Parts: sequence; C-alpha cells; structure tokens
Amino acid sequence: MGPAEGAQTLPKTFDPAAVESRIYQGWVDRGYFGADPARVKEGGDPYVIVIPPPNVTAVLHMGHGLNNTVQDVLIRWRRMQGRVALWVPGTDHAGIATQNVVERQLVAEGTSRDALGREAFVDRVWDFVGTTGNQILEQLKAIGCSCDWTRTRFTLDEGLSRAVREVFVRLHEADLIYRGEYIINWCPRCLTALSNEEAEGSESDGSLWHLRYPIPQESASSAEAAAAAGAEAVTRLGDGRWALTVSTTRPETMLGDTGVAVHPEDARYGPLVGLDVELPLAGRRIPIVADEYVDAEFGTGMVKVTPAHDPNDFEIAGRAGLTVLNVMTPAAAMNDEAPEAYRGLDRFEARKAVLRDLEDQGLLAGRDDHRHNIPRCYRCDTVVEPRLSEQWFVRMGPMAEKALAASKDGTVTFTPGRWTKVYEQWMENIRDWCISRQLWWGHRIPVWYCDDCGEVMVLREDPTECRACGSGGLTQDPDVLDTWFSSWLWP
Ligand SMILES: [Zn+2]
Ligand SMILES: [Zn+2]
Repeated sequence: MGPAEGAQTLPKTFDPAAVESRIYQGWVDRGYFGADPARVKEGGDPYVIVIPPPNVTAVLHMGHGLNNTVQDVLIRWRRMQGRVALWVPGTDHAGIATQNVVERQLVAEGTSRDALGREAFVDRVWDFVGTTGNQILEQLKAIGCSCDWTRTRFTLDEGLSRAVREVFVRLHEADLIYRGEYIINWCPRCLTALSNEEAEGSESDGSLWHLRYPIPQESASSAEAAAAAGAEAVTRLGDGRWALTVSTTRPETMLGDTGVAVHPEDARYGPLVGLDVELPLAGRRIPIVADEYVDAEFGTGMVKVTPAHDPNDFEIAGRAGLTVLNVMTPAAAMNDEAPEAYRGLDRFEARKAVLRDLEDQGLLAGRDDHRHNIPRCYRCDTVVEPRLSEQWFVRMGPMAEKALAASKDGTVTFTPGRWTKVYEQWMENIRDWCISRQLWWGHRIPVWYCDDCGEVMVLREDPTECRACGSGGLTQDPDVLDTWFSSWLWP
C-alpha cells in the first residue's frame, strides 16, 4: 500500500468512538491497570489513589470528569515512572440522596415508599443503583480512567457491610458510640435527620420579633433595680406592670420556652437572676438563669431559652437545669404540650397566631427586618426544624485528638499548606457525630431492643433471643447509618 492509497482510506473526520474503546480494551486485556503486591515486597514503591466514590444517585457530571481526569493524570504519571501504581475504583450508595431519587420516581408512578413497604422499597433501590452504578463505571472507562477494575467496590457490598458492622460494635465496646438525646437538624417533610452539610440553607430576608414577658408583681422592686442599673430588656407595660423583652426569629417556639438567660457577669440583670417571669399564652412561670453562652453585648443581653427546639438552648438547659419541653410533632405542627389554642397548627400558622395573640395582649414590642441564615433541607428545600430526638452518636473528641496530633507532628500533610489550619481548627472544635438516619436505604444499625425487658444489644451477628431474659421478641433499630459511616472506611 503506497502513501497515496493510505490517505484515501482515512476517514474525513476523526471518530474517537471507533478508536478509543478498542485501545482501552487493549490496555485492560494486557493488565496495565493492575498492581501486583509482589512487586512491593520486592522493593517496588507503591503509589495508591482511592477514588472518592461517586454517588449512585445519577450518572456522572462534568465535575466528576474534571476530578477523575486529575486522578488519572497522577496515577499514569507515577505508573510511567515505574512506581507500583494502583487506582481503586468504586461507588457510594449515598443514603438519603439515592432514597430521595427513587421516592420521586415512585411519586411520579402514583405510589410511595410506604405503600411498597421497607423490603420492596429497598429492592427497588437496588434495581435503580444496579443501572446507575454500572453506567458510572462505564463512563469512567469511556474517559480513559486507568482504574484496576478487578478491585471495584460498592459501599453496600458484603465486605464493606461487614466492616461497617464490626466498626460500629468495636466503637460501642470502646464507649465511642452512644445513644443520646440531642437536637438534630430535622426535615419535617422528609421526616429525617439531616447533617449540617445537608441543612445549609442560605442568607434570607427575615424578621426579628421582640416579645414581652411580664414580671410578677412580687418581683417589681427587683425589676425596678435592674432597670435602674441599665437593664435594657426591662421596661414597664402600659398597665404599669414590669416586663422583660426577648427577641426571636421563630416566635412560635416561645410556647416551648422553659427559661430566659443572661450572662453571669452582666451586672444589669443581677437583681433578676433566680426569679421567675410569666410566659404569656402558656400560663406558666419560667426562671431567669445565668449562663456563659449569652452574649451581653448582643441585643438586650437577654435571651429566651427553648431547649427542645434550639441546639444552643439545649446546652444552656443542660447546664442550668431547665426543663426540656418539646411542643412540636415530627411534621412540625404544635403538639399536645403546647397550649390548647395552638395544638394541631402548623409551625407557620402557629407563628401568626402567637404574634396576633401577643399583640392583642400588648406583649408584642415590635419587629425588625433581619437578614439571617435559614437552613433548608438540601433535597426538598423545606425549612429545617431543630428537633429533639434519640439518636446514635460517635464520640469524636478522643479520635480528633489523634487526628490533630498527626497533623501537628507532620505525619499528615496538606497540599496546599494553608488547609492545615482549616483542618486543625476543625479538629479542635469537633462535635459529636450523629450517625443515625431515619431512612431505609443504607446499613441498618446493628442494635436490637428486647420487647419484654428493654435490653439493648449491639451485636456482630443477628440475635435469636434476648441475652438478659431469653425472650424471642426482639426489634432491630429501624434506622440506618449516615452514608459517611461507610465511606469513612472506604475502600
Ligand atoms: Zn426534606
Ligand atoms: Zn429481654
């Protein structure tokens, strides 16, 4: 074949599809992407990237195209240098995100998760992820990613599921996993707990309302003393009674107030600490307490405390010994702990009713425009409601100490270096991690409760009877683990 002849057989335009898959298959067939552990034993220098597993929620987007290309460049560069280069691929089951995609499909089909039931729903999600998961892996191949496909993993694989269970049990044995009451981010529509990242929301124009709580007649002289000392929150009502002013962006929560708080060193309010104030609309008296959390410089220096509906207030209540009173249902309507007039009202209807009734009683001091962050459910955009509930937690302090030490002593380094500070601040201010999710898609929590004696069992193997009383009536915890509980063990 002469040169002129060859030129004639070339297609006018380059068709990558006709060429790339053949070349790619050749690489795979000849085992170029594998890494032989024996070479490391013989002194080979390993270079390993564990893929951040893409969520099986949907096929890949351009962001994946970028970050996987970067990983591929690094791994191919090291491979060509003769290092024992290994890129481990796989996918993430992506708990709430995947469950929501399938739930939306069901709604479009005129049915629902509850209509299907737990088992059938989980089967349905498996069907869905079988399709998207395979497509994701095919997409990675199509852009040339040189992963060792013989090592492909999925976060719900049997092996990883065993690892998840083993780690849960071990951490529980080491007292690093516990069950506790806690204020969580809660979506009243999805009826599930959300992580901080899943409940970020955005800055929005809102209102700050100023509410007045009357001071009982017998404390009038203390109120007068506080007002004379410059206590801005203490003023007289039209009828001559003394009252406190507190401010809130969520007036309906006042129905669950169990105290008001000032800073212990705020001398203005000294005469009032330890006394009671009347909580309007609820017909209760609540105490005035002192707590370091309160910022004396902010507003009037006095805050209302709603322990069951605000994470900071929950902590104040713990320190000051205040009652925790939950006044809302899981769907964020007022429950039977709220005064009768508001029971059954949705939180936003209750807000209007509370403001109207306070106004009628001359106890609404005013309203200011207030721009603030309103957290929203990242799946459905519903305003998140802080909620008191029983959840499982990982005690992060002892682990963060080790992780911090590893950064301080140079065992772990960051590129670029400025992220070291971000990481260290994160470790220094770590909070316990809420790992339970009210979902069906994910690793079920390996805890069983005895229906007869209440024994709680955290186990590596499924039990057949209660270890305390021998009863066969056992119920497994219905929740699943946060999707990160498996990806933190990846691969
Ligand atoms: Zn939601
Ligand atoms: Zn029992």
